[in-house]
Amino acid sequence: MFILKGIDQLEKAIVKAKKIRPRVEFDCFGRYRVSGSKGYYTVVCRKDERGYKTVACTCKGAERGLACYHAAAALSLHIGLARQQPST
Ligand SMILES: [Zn+2]
Repeated sequence: MFILKGIDQLEKAIVKAKKIRPRVEFDCFGRYRVSGSKGYYTVVCRKDERGYKTVACTCKGAERGLACYHAAAALSLHIGLARQQPST
C-alpha cells in the first residue's frame, strides 16, 4: 500500500502500464482487478481517515510500498470515474 501524493510518483509505473497494457476490470467504485504476470491482482483506491489517497495492490511490489503498474492502470480508470462522482 502506498499514499498517492502526486502523479509524478506514478510516472515509471504509467510507462510500464502503457507498455504492458494490463486488462483492468471494474469491480466497484475504488476497487479494480488488474491482470498481471501471475493472474489478477486487486487494486483498491480510497481515501483514509486523514484524507490521504491510498492505493493498495495485492502484488509483491505494492506490499513493499512501491507504485506498481497495476495501480497505475487502475488509477487511470479510477480518476476518470472519480471525476464523474460529485461527492468525491
Ligand atoms: Zn500491483
